[in-house]
Amino acid sequence: MRKKTVVITGGAGFIGSHLCDRLLIEGFKVICIDNFITGTPNNIKHLLKNEALPRAIRRGGFFERNIESCFKAGRMSKNFRFIEQDVTKYINIKEKVDYVLHFASLASPEDYLKYPIPTLKSGSLGTHNALGLAKQKKAKFMLASTSEVYGDPLIHPQPESYWGNVNPVGVRGCYDESKRFAEALTMAYHRVHKIDTKIVRIFNTYGPRMKASDGRVVPNFIYQALHNKSLTVYGKGNQTRSFCYVDDLIEGIFRFMHCRINEPINLGNPNEFTILELAKLITQLTATKSKIIYKPLPEDDPKQRQPDISKAKNLLKWQPKIELKQGLEKTIHWFLGS
Ligand code: UDP
Repeated sequence: MRKKTVVITGGAGFIGSHLCDRLLIEGFKVICIDNFITGTPNNIKHLLKNEALPRAIRRGGFFERNIESCFKAGRMSKNFRFIEQDVTKYINIKEKVDYVLHFASLASPEDYLKYPIPTLKSGSLGTHNALGLAKQKKAKFMLASTSEVYGDPLIHPQPESYWGNVNPVGVRGCYDESKRFAEALTMAYHRVHKIDTKIVRIFNTYGPRMKASDGRVVPNFIYQALHNKSLTVYGKGNQTRSFCYVDDLIEGIFRFMHCRINEPINLGNPNEFTILELAKLITQLTATKSKIIYKPLPEDDPKQRQPDISKAKNLLKWQPKIELKQGLEKTIHWFLGS
């Protein structure tokens, strides 16, 4: 039987690369597209064949050595292909495609504040191109959306039926509105072109392969703790987030891919923590001598965030299994080895 082919945009990113791994294990052919604006060749180096090495690797240096060791370990996959491309440009794939998973995006507040225009373009033009590919190939489509579509929520926890509280002209507007536009475009393609589309609203996710310089709170605190730098809590640290370990998220995405649901579904861990609690837990788990210091709260920083995952529980029979402490231990272990 022909293997199913999946195109993953943003496949060299944090979540995208874990998705590549999982789908290869599940027997898919994976075509990964990335332009490395925030993703990195390091995340997919264990999957690449020599001839498919992206320019960043072929240029030599650090990555080349890692690739060598991957070859020696025989860890290259013949079902994996990499295309170095910006998704805002037309996506040209010759073979049959069964799924298009659009995960290309700048997801860290630090990144999207630095690159607001590429952020808006990957959410708008990139989503348009990815949907166009799905339409042409009669493929199923999944949009990686975000809890940011709820903005600074006035309803707690956030169900999918909540329309959100977003400042379109604030500094986070470039991300929030690009994802809201992407959701609207996805639903229009579903209604007009009858594409089997899915929208996954991803809440704060963490785990191995997040960059130390990512800017998001979990890698920031872990990096700071491991380097005896002060942990930078923004504001008083009483804002809340709910952190999902990446393996749990990938399981939810995999289940969602295989069902006939076309409405948005929240995926995230409903256990809510304050940022100060997170800082204290990471301090404890790393046994660091680092202190906690306080910095100004960034503009439009949401005060609280917790997913209502009733829909995922009912429709996907999914709920996260990995507790924050366990997930942080795995992540710290990865940071120590990377
Ligand atoms: N945060 C913090 N210190 C840091 C990085 C982030 O206190 O070094 C806070 C940030 O202000 C926010 C929360 O942690 O309230 C989560 O931030 P993150 O950038 O991970 O993602 P967000 O959920 O805001 O998109």
